[in-house]
Amino acid sequence: MADPAECTIKVMCRFRPLNSSEVTRGDKYIPKFQGEDTCIIGGKPYMFDRVFQSNTTQEQVYNACAQKIVKDVLEGYNGTIFAYGQTSSGKTHTMEGNLHDTDSMGIIPRIVQDIFNYIYSMDENLEFHIKFVRLIYSNLLPVSKTNLSVHEDKNRVPYVKGCTERFVCSPDEVMDTIDEGKANRHVAVTNMNEHSSRSHSIFLINVKQENTQTEQKLSGKLYLVDLAGSEKVSKTGAEGAVLDEAKNINKSLSSLGNVISALAEGTAYIPYRDSKMTRILQDSLGGNCRTTIVICCSPSSFNEAETKSTLMFGQRAK
Ligand code: ADP
Ligand code: MG
Repeated sequence: MADPAECTIKVMCRFRPLNSSEVTRGDKYIPKFQGEDTCIIGGKPYMFDRVFQSNTTQEQVYNACAQKIVKDVLEGYNGTIFAYGQTSSGKTHTMEGNLHDTDSMGIIPRIVQDIFNYIYSMDENLEFHIKFVRLIYSNLLPVSKTNLSVHEDKNRVPYVKGCTERFVCSPDEVMDTIDEGKANRHVAVTNMNEHSSRSHSIFLINVKQENTQTEQKLSGKLYLVDLAGSEKVSKTGAEGAVLDEAKNINKSLSSLGNVISALAEGTAYIPYRDSKMTRILQDSLGGNCRTTIVICCSPSSFNEAETKSTLMFGQRAK
């Protein structure tokens, strides 16, 4: 069994490479690195559990950020993996990547593969039920299915009404569910990029197992969260409904920051009820749950202020 005492919040930091428009504009590559856990911006060092330089592969990121959590979830623990950062810092690349390519696939498809490989390797007395749930968290979408409300069951465990929920039997079925969700979003919103940067995308993998001989049962939940872009609203020049939405997103990100720093400090009161998202994640954050935050950063001088603010978010969780 995993040792509950080792439960901590792990904070990883990943820098993507400069992209072609940044290179064309003549932006400078600003981060410097020290060892495996420190990056330096503007002369100031920021320390994390791990820092990934721009050339780190998807596989290396998976091994360091997710492999252990998957093992724990299969032993009945709950966990959450977040990607935090400004728009185009590499959150979706880190969480999803290319779902259908072995080298460039991100954390989610690798987790799904690992879970199924584990199941295929187990003996026949074990019965598994894998549930895959996909939620989008946004108030802007005109589709009622994605305008989700949080409810509590009789044990006060929060759940979300109206999300896409499916029992799955193979990694391909999970990828199909993710692809379908993306296609639905295209129908609902014309400007996909603009939309996706203003909503949180949350996946839940629930693994239930039962030994049919001993009747022993285990259940573990893993939330995988691609957070909305953390950039300041003023920079985007938003107005009206878009501005309200942006404020909502900022509020949910700051509530998440408050919950995580309260957990990191070991405070008695954890403000889970301050936002819908933290209520949804409540039973998979803190306690003896496994939590990993991957903060994603642009290396460009153009984004220096946002990068520093992202690094500060990550430091609050330590
Ligand atoms: P976000 O989800 O934070 O808005 P994306 O993950 O969509 O950002 O990344 C923006 C672009 O940068 C995408 O085209 C993505 O493929 C590319 N990218 C992000 N991170 C990396 C990386 N580590 N290596 C190579 N390309 C990356
Ligand atoms: Mg994204």
